[in-house]
This record gives sequence, C-alpha cells and structure tokens, in this order.
Amino acid sequence: MKADLHVHSTASDGSLAPSALVAMALERGLDVLAIADHDSVEGLAEALAAARGTALKLIPAVELSASDGGHDVHVLAYFVDHTDARLLEHLADLRVSRLRRAGSMVAALCGAGYDVSIDAVLELSGGGAVGRSHVAAALVDAGHAESVSEAFRTLIGRGRPFYVSKDARPPRDVIATIVAAGGLPVIAHPGVTRADELLPGLVASGLRGIEAFHADHTPQQRSHYAAIARQRGLLVTGGSDYHGPGGPNPALGSVDVPSEAVEALLAAGRP
Ligand code: AMP
Ligand code: ZN
Ligand code: FE
Ligand code: FE
Repeated sequence: MKADLHVHSTASDGSLAPSALVAMALERGLDVLAIADHDSVEGLAEALAAARGTALKLIPAVELSASDGGHDVHVLAYFVDHTDARLLEHLADLRVSRLRRAGSMVAALCGAGYDVSIDAVLELSGGGAVGRSHVAAALVDAGHAESVSEAFRTLIGRGRPFYVSKDARPPRDVIATIVAAGGLPVIAHPGVTRADELLPGLVASGLRGIEAFHADHTPQQRSHYAAIARQRGLLVTGGSDYHGPGGPNPALGSVDVPSEAVEALLAAGRP
C-alpha cells in the first residue's frame, strides 16, 4: 500500500490545487493521500470530490499550529470532520492570528528598508492561510532575496531578525478540538520540532499517533519515533510534506510509509 499522509495545497502554502494533488497522487499510483493544510480545511471538499469514484482513498486532514511556551508545535488531524463548528472556529482564529503575524513581519521588514507590502503577501496567499512562505515569495518578488529559501535563511527563518512566532493555543487545547471533531491527533515531525519531552503530556491529552516517517527525519529518527509509538501503543504516520513543484520538500509519494502503519490508521479512522 502506497501512501502520502502529509501534503499541502493552495488552501495554505502549497502551490497546487487540491484536485491537482489528487490527480498527481493517482498518476503516481498512490492508494492513500492525506491533504493536511496549515490551519485550513478549505481544500478538502474539492479534494474529496476529485477522489470520489477513483482508486485513491483521500483522508480528510489538517495540520494545526500549536504553541508550547513560544515553541511551535504542529498537530496533524486525520479523519477530522471538516464541517465541525468548533474546529472551524479554532481554524478561523488561527488564520486571523496568521494575518496579524504577517502584518507584523511586513511592518518590521519595511522599517528595516525591505519594502514589501501586505497586499502583495495576501495576493500570493491566494486567499489561503497566510504564512511565512508567502512573505518569503513577496521578498523574492521585491528583489530582497534570490529565492524563498534564501529569504528564510537570511530574514524570516527561526532565529533570523524578522522571525515572528505564531500566536497559537497550547497543544492540549488543539488536541481537544481535534478529538471533539472526531479526528485522530498525531504529532507532526517531532524530530524537527524537538518535541520528545512533550510526548508524555501530549499522550495524556489524547494524542493518538506520531509522524515518524517525515521527509525531514533521518533514518535514525524514523526508527526512534516508530519505536516510541510501538512502546506507547500509538499510530505511526508519515509523508513528504510536499508543497508543490519547486517547494522545500521532496516529491509527492516519495517517503515510504509502512503498509501496516497505513492500514492501522485507516482502521482507527473508521467509525
Ligand atoms: P509558517 O507556518 O507561516 O511559520 O510557515 C512554515 C512553512 O514555511 C513551512 O511549512 C514551509 O512550507 C515553509 N518553510 C519553512 N522553512 C523553510 C525554508 N527554510 N525554506 C523554504 N520554506 C520553508
Ligand atoms: Zn508549509
Ligand atoms: Fe509542519
Ligand atoms: Fe506540513
């Protein structure tokens, strides 16, 4: 069973529309795809419609921002009810805080002589959840960086002068929202966020799985997190974190996720 359980569409900072991701997944012979946009479920209706009647199983998902003492934590939600009112309210709040944050970053950049406009950033976001990728693209368009990755490296990456942390709720609140919306909360790329010390607390709050097979995890990290999941009786997920052609992550479907893990996730997601 071939799966990619973590990809982004134009509903957040991916460059491909949800239906284009579905078409690409089918072309690559994937059996299962989960579109997990940052703080948005707005691509899911289109993706579900595109996958209907095809060989592809589309899992509705979202990657929620959480904040643990200024520390960014991402929580994936699989099989979430993307029409749940409380979830939609939580996501709307996150998108408002993303907008405010983009405004602060733009103001600070302008103050330092990097003229970029919030209108350009919003235009690049195309109405999706606005993020640093869109600020980076605006910086490139304005000639202040050669590439998106250079903009992150020099200006807006974590620890760089114009980085602004996200104003999000603690992981336990995010997990509660996901569970109430019928979803399975899974900690995203814990090796990137260095979330090891948070794991026991997250499990006590209702965490159901660990994204061990993430594109940015080394083989050692993949086995480390798969072993933790086994010990704690948690699900294991994985994916490319694909953001479209030219994006920061590898190709859709390029990260192997063990079939048993995918089957366990599908079984857990069935009511
Ligand atoms: P945000 O959620 O607004 O903080 O933005 C995080 C997103 O920025 C990630 O999901 C990636 O899509 C993108 N990103 C983070 N670091 C880099 C980087 N070094 N190069 C390119 N894109 C990046
Ligand atoms: Zn992203
Ligand atoms: Fe993430
Ligand atoms: Fe992601």
